[in-house]
Amino acid sequence: MKVVDIHSHFIPKEWENLQKKFGGDGWPWLSHSESNVNNTQPEKAMLMKGKQAFRPVYSACWDAQVRLDEMDRDGVDKQIISATPILFAYDRPVEQASYCAQLFNDAALDICSKDTQRLFALAQVPLQNIDASCIEVSRAKACGHVGVQIGNHVGEKNMDDEGVLTFLQHCADEDIPVFVHPWDMMASERTKDYMMGWTVGMPAETQLSIVSMILGGGFDRVSDTLKICFAHGGGSFAFLLGRLENAWHHKDIARGKSQHPPSHYLNRFHLDTAVFDHDALDLLVKKMGPERLMFGTDYPFPLGEQQMGQLIKTSADLSDQTKQKLLASNAEQFFSL
Ligand SMILES: [Zn+2]
Repeated sequence: MKVVDIHSHFIPKEWENLQKKFGGDGWPWLSHSESNVNNTQPEKAMLMKGKQAFRPVYSACWDAQVRLDEMDRDGVDKQIISATPILFAYDRPVEQASYCAQLFNDAALDICSKDTQRLFALAQVPLQNIDASCIEVSRAKACGHVGVQIGNHVGEKNMDDEGVLTFLQHCADEDIPVFVHPWDMMASERTKDYMMGWTVGMPAETQLSIVSMILGGGFDRVSDTLKICFAHGGGSFAFLLGRLENAWHHKDIARGKSQHPPSHYLNRFHLDTAVFDHDALDLLVKKMGPERLMFGTDYPFPLGEQQMGQLIKTSADLSDQTKQKLLASNAEQFFSL
């Protein structure tokens, strides 16, 4: 079966010292480990945020050959790479965030240049400024990016923010697919232990994004030509759709600006399949339909699918036809690969 992974991340091997260039602190950089003497293991590094260790990573993040070898190992034909959200710089002045977007977007294409038939990239944009975001996403598309990844909020602005909707309309007009990734998770002071920011905060963030798009009238206002996909199976959204629907029907204030009940909008967005559980995958297929789900792994991070594609391939309930849609054909259509 053909396999296309739409949710994987890259980090360039090195880039200029952003703290030195712009001042301030908390800039991302990679601290590389001493090379393995026999060179038998992939190189390791620590992704740093200023002086703080953020996440241990290995060379699949920046070395296309390591990535391609592991794709071969697991039978992945194509992979779409996107930035790690720590590179977004949404809280910096727009000139600095625009500079970072160009820097990392060009670096992504450089990684993909190793095999342009198998590796594809999503761009990042300085989402704190909508004009600059529209300029950068159009530039990136012209350079070869197959879509754009955005963080699911900018500070207190959710997906129904006027500016974010303007950006989404621009993407719809230019036929640029959008992938929404959770980041900068809510309740960080109460989820700092046990990786709860990732296991609890991220799914809640994504649910919040889809709900705000629906109830904020986002899907009513933006053209239905918009291609938009939310990460991690939509987080908590599918499981809690009944609760949302019940509230919409029985409380006026829970309707927000949406013209229709929440379930009406399920044909307006896609979700990836990074849910790591067959029952959860079955629920997504049941709620969203087999046309609106695309295989995603979160490779090469520790919370990603360790053997890429296994969840879908080993499903006892999905037909081969559905599996093929989820594993590749939906993504090839969505991203025009
Ligand atoms: Zn991810």
